[in-house]
Amino acid sequence: MTSLDVARASLRDVATYAPGSSSCPIDLRDNTNLFGAPPAALAAVRATQATALTEYPDVAGGALTTALAAAIGIRTDEIVTGCGSDDVLDAAFRAVAEPGAVLAHPSPSFSMVPVFARLNSLVPVAVPLTASGAADADAILATGARIIYLCSPNNPTGTVTPADVVRRIVRESDAIVVLDEAYAEFSPELADLRAEAPALERLLVVRTFSKAWGLAGLRVGYGIGSAALVREVQKARGPYKLNAVAERAAVTALEQDDEWMRQHAAEAVDCRERAVSALRAFGLAPLDSRGNFVCVPVPDACKVAGQLAARGIAVRAFSALPVYGDVLRAGMAPWPVVEQFVRALREVLA
Ligand code: PMP
Repeated sequence: MTSLDVARASLRDVATYAPGSSSCPIDLRDNTNLFGAPPAALAAVRATQATALTEYPDVAGGALTTALAAAIGIRTDEIVTGCGSDDVLDAAFRAVAEPGAVLAHPSPSFSMVPVFARLNSLVPVAVPLTASGAADADAILATGARIIYLCSPNNPTGTVTPADVVRRIVRESDAIVVLDEAYAEFSPELADLRAEAPALERLLVVRTFSKAWGLAGLRVGYGIGSAALVREVQKARGPYKLNAVAERAAVTALEQDDEWMRQHAAEAVDCRERAVSALRAFGLAPLDSRGNFVCVPVPDACKVAGQLAARGIAVRAFSALPVYGDVLRAGMAPWPVVEQFVRALREVLA
């Protein structure tokens, strides 16, 4: 029997996202909220009514859009919601560029970005970060890309691209600029571009409830931009992507769990700073992460991650990254947990 060749030729070599599973008792791989779930949102999920299951949700997450508009001080037609920020990124890439157009992105950065670009028939062009870990504005502008993706704080480095650099890239290009701020809640000291995005017209700021808000399992993300840009992204995303239970939880979290979110984000930042000091104390040079994770260059990261897994601790290993080479990325958790990671890494590298 001949095997059926169903693959689209240009996508044959795209790998399915497979972060792998871990049986480790300590799992620091995903940068999710390891301090728990937002309490009011959890109570709202537990109180789910039957109609939230039997009926379709709002076609475009209207209640969440209203709550976000009030919280941020923008209009509802300047917000698009999605099934995680993945969904918003994917839809945005599809919405604004013709097949074959260039999408420029920093490297290293969020690994799904070049994949979403290719799945939407775009050509991803990787531009190395500068030595400080910011996006290289000159090199990105020189690509002439139709879409420019930026990520700040960046995954996996945690490094930041200053708001003025983002503004300059918007001003000096004709591109649609997508600024992924999945980890912004962990760096409240940085400029918040959300309220400014609609007036900048070609900037879409993307955020998620998966990290600081502790709702990764429910899949909620959103984008903010001009009404014209948001309309196109919404069209490309399709209907009913935000399910009713997720929407209820996200609205409740915004309205009642804000203080909880801030406290736990601050705790994650404290743990990160303690971890960074401890890693420095034994001679490592962790990057200047502003996310809820540390990123630390080590020789042969895959081998080290394997040795940590043997000690019951799962982290992400990245090999041969531009600028940084091999690194480990570990998400933050309550300090006694992070301390075990730090100790185990010290033993493994001794
Ligand atoms: N952007 C960045 C930078 C991320 O790290 C992630 C998740 N790891 C996402 C987007 C996607 O998150 P979600 O779809 O859960 O909102």
